Amino acid sequence: MRGTVIFTKTSVTMNIRANDPNRRSWVEVPKGSDFPIQNLPFGVFKTQGEKPRVGVAIGNKILDLKALHVLGHLPNQPFNINAFDTDSLNTMMSYGKKIVREFRNRISDLLEENNPELRDNHNHVAQVLVEQAEAEMLLPVQIGDYTDFYSSIDHATNVGKMFRDPENALLPNWKHLPVGYHGRSSSIVSSGTAIHRPKGQSKAPDQELPSFGPCKLLDFELETGFFTFPGKPLGHSISTEEADEYIFGMVLLNDWSARDIQTWEYVPLGPFLAKNFASSISSWVVTLDALEPFRTKGATQVPAVLPYLSYQGEKNIDIHLEVIIQTPDGNDNTISNSNNKYMYWTIEQQLAHHTVNGCNIRCGDFLGSGTISGPTRDTFGSMLELTWKGTQPLKMKDGSERKFINDNDTVVMRGYCEKDGLRIGFGEVKTKVLPAI
Ligand code: MN
Repeated sequence: MRGTVIFTKTSVTMNIRANDPNRRSWVEVPKGSDFPIQNLPFGVFKTQGEKPRVGVAIGNKILDLKALHVLGHLPNQPFNINAFDTDSLNTMMSYGKKIVREFRNRISDLLEENNPELRDNHNHVAQVLVEQAEAEMLLPVQIGDYTDFYSSIDHATNVGKMFRDPENALLPNWKHLPVGYHGRSSSIVSSGTAIHRPKGQSKAPDQELPSFGPCKLLDFELETGFFTFPGKPLGHSISTEEADEYIFGMVLLNDWSARDIQTWEYVPLGPFLAKNFASSISSWVVTLDALEPFRTKGATQVPAVLPYLSYQGEKNIDIHLEVIIQTPDGNDNTISNSNNKYMYWTIEQQLAHHTVNGCNIRCGDFLGSGTISGPTRDTFGSMLELTWKGTQPLKMKDGSERKFINDNDTVVMRGYCEKDGLRIGFGEVKTKVLPAI
């Protein structure tokens, strides 16, 4: 069973009772919470004196799956305790989409307001529910390979205008394939992990020779990313139609970037040290299943894409995204309101393209969207664009200005879907920037 997932068309016919908008939980879910019973995202957490374990967010609480298993509430599931008494979701994910979907349905049933099984066992409830405020969230997945795309047309156009030719901002390949590069997984960190300003080589246009020192143009990139289930063997491809069967869930991604280092180093092989010093992700993995109700029409793709990139149906996902700079005095400055739906290339197209040459994806691989920018300045997903290369600084509430990110600033990204009174959120990815070491 583990390690390989056979795709069957019947699994496309979804029966996701966990998504029923009419369900309510006996666990209190405050109004405006990111985590109603229709979400049930997975994560890895730790409490004082205890080892890391797997949990599900519900309201302000975490349902401890290890405790739930030990207390006998997960019968007839293929998982043994090792899937939950562990510091990553990989074991659980290794069983593939259909089993994880059924498992999420089971969790939903247990938390449903009319089900007394767990609700009325107060001794067990006290053992399986943990306050989120008392838990430390850890990196949820042991990430194998990390790939970052460049799939927002407004972002690619902005960068092309700034650095190349405003008349031909997009390179000739851009509308024919989702451009991407292989990133580095070792430096992906969870929300709450502070990072240090990177050091490196850069060369300003007026300098004759490069110099070395702390990055001067530290930037964030507002992105989303998805984790994969086990894929197909080397040599086989995953089609756009099959892609969803291999996608576990999504998180928010801040793909930190050192613009001065990037400008000097990226020719001709692409990003390297400007990108691999840190990438931050949100702690809860929202399943693709939970996001299905928020699908929306994808971008009109002209010229038409090659057949292996074509797809049926509404494959974009409407996720409101925002970026906040918290200045050292503690003030929040919202600097961008964007949306995942601005993506030109869908996640299904990204996965199909990634595997079309036979490249094998594995359980726990991570694929980032690329910076997500919308059509107007207030929807741009990086300081590079928001300040137009530093020429139009942003004013902060404390009176200071930002061209890029300063030491001791904290960057917060939040994301949520909202439709017909139902809100499915991602929580946040929050990172403080410390001075260079
Ligand atoms: Mn990126």
